[in-house]
Amino acid sequence: MDRSSPNKFNQFVPLIDRFFHQCIPEPNSGCWIWTGTTTWHPRKGSDVLTYGRIRVAGPQLYAHRVAWELFCSEIPAGLKVLHKCDNTLCVNPDHLFLGTQRDNIYDCELKGRAYHPSGVDNGAFSHGKYASGGEWYRDRPEKRRTRAR
Ligand SMILES: [Zn+2]
Repeated sequence: MDRSSPNKFNQFVPLIDRFFHQCIPEPNSGCWIWTGTTTWHPRKGSDVLTYGRIRVAGPQLYAHRVAWELFCSEIPAGLKVLHKCDNTLCVNPDHLFLGTQRDNIYDCELKGRAYHPSGVDNGAFSHGKYASGGEWYRDRPEKRRTRAR
């Protein structure tokens, strides 16, 4: 395909090409990190999870949802595309799964990803219910190695 046109990200380029132009594989995690437009809200800061966005025939859609529809199947009404890898910018279909909003909230809580406005500030992370710092859920090979010694 001729990519020399300065207008290469226009609507005439197939979606799949635009998609692959805007994500880079991360060799360690296997994540495909979205490098295109995101939902980042500078004023709200860290309480808003950042998701990739891609324009598909008009409206901007979530990049990870587009990834699911590109590589897997249509998303049934009411279902969300969730991240196994906990990286909201990841668009690798292997790292995604379908679930409900309830699953998402549960998943967030389980992984300690949910933002609690009073959490970090009031010290709950050091001595409250998140005292483990959410570390237990992460697959940390370097920690396992240390423990084995
Ligand atoms: Zn991932």
